[in-house]
Amino acid sequence: MRASTVVFDSLADFTRRKERQPDGFSYGITGTPTARLLEHRIAALEGGTHCVVTPSGQSALMTAVMGFIRGGDHLLVSAACYGALKTFAQKWLAGFNVEVEIYPPAIGADIEAYIKPNTKMICMESPGTVTMEMPDIPAIVKVAKRHGVMTMTDNTWASPLAFRPLEHGVDLSIEAATKLFGGHSDLLLGSISMNDFSYYEILRETQSVLGQQTSPDDCFLVLRGLETLKVRFDAQSATALQIARKLEDHPSVEKVLFPALESDTGNMIWKRDFKGNGCLFSLILRPSTDTAYIAFFDALTHFAIGASWGGVHSLAAFYPAPLQADRRFPLTDQPIIRLSIGLEEGDLLMSDLLGGLDAFDKASGATST
Ligand SMILES: *Cc1c(COP(=O)(O)O)cnc(C)c1O
Repeated sequence: MRASTVVFDSLADFTRRKERQPDGFSYGITGTPTARLLEHRIAALEGGTHCVVTPSGQSALMTAVMGFIRGGDHLLVSAACYGALKTFAQKWLAGFNVEVEIYPPAIGADIEAYIKPNTKMICMESPGTVTMEMPDIPAIVKVAKRHGVMTMTDNTWASPLAFRPLEHGVDLSIEAATKLFGGHSDLLLGSISMNDFSYYEILRETQSVLGQQTSPDDCFLVLRGLETLKVRFDAQSATALQIARKLEDHPSVEKVLFPALESDTGNMIWKRDFKGNGCLFSLILRPSTDTAYIAFFDALTHFAIGASWGGVHSLAAFYPAPLQADRRFPLTDQPIIRLSIGLEEGDLLMSDLLGGLDAFDKASGATST
């Protein structure tokens, strides 16, 4: 349903309209029935009781932080968190006198060393969706609860089909619905799910005061995307794992960053806590030149080159070396190639990647002689 204006039966009804929140309808900015239906569906998927949808994944991350962080607070953000969240924290929040501190992504109970008397919230991403480090969420949550610190995690990589943060005690579970929920690369949307009603009230107000309203048409598209989420997720996850295992054995691939692989440092945590591997993983190739990376991407005929992921068409993204080397707690000083596996035939995708690696090898050879 589309609406900016909500009409009331009587003046008394209109005067009391604020009492309808956080669930009801008083003006378009606080949500429409389409948004509310989507919120109920997402909350159920997450094993939570409440959800607030926002216009993008980034707006969900920002809204979650803005709801609770004030000047003088200490905010812990993983170095592997979504780039725009880190920029928002370091450029905007720090300017509002929030003490922002970046912590190493593959952390567990050791997070305790970072906690101060004014620590308000810990922001996590599991795994980091470029570098794929796995935090030990149950261990972090245990420490956070002992110190009265809130936790939020960006759960986009796993989706609630593979991991439900709320069931592990995380306060706020965030999804970029742009990715797997929507599933067709044709919308932007985000969600914040939770169990605590007082958090829900705060986040509904934050969403509306910051003007973070979603289009009912986009909510509808996500509702439709959710109908096929499980079949897409299962199919894309299976192909992704099969391709990742093959790439692991390729001589030009130095490392496949994918917690589902036994060789990955996050595998133990993934195996213990997660029920699926999703469709997104990264590669570090053997050291070479920029020309070789250009040759790799130019040779791809099936993978499109682009940001975002989780759609039905496969996608490859490039993260240059300086971006990695300059990060706090860097994982590598090499470039990273990130692959999002779609619904295409695995063999077709594999032969496209082998063609790319072949071009990479040839260009590496040509430039080193
Ligand atoms: C894409 C993405 C976001 C941001 O979502 P948008 O809808 O593009 O703003 C946040 N976190 C993760 C892990 C993402 O992949």
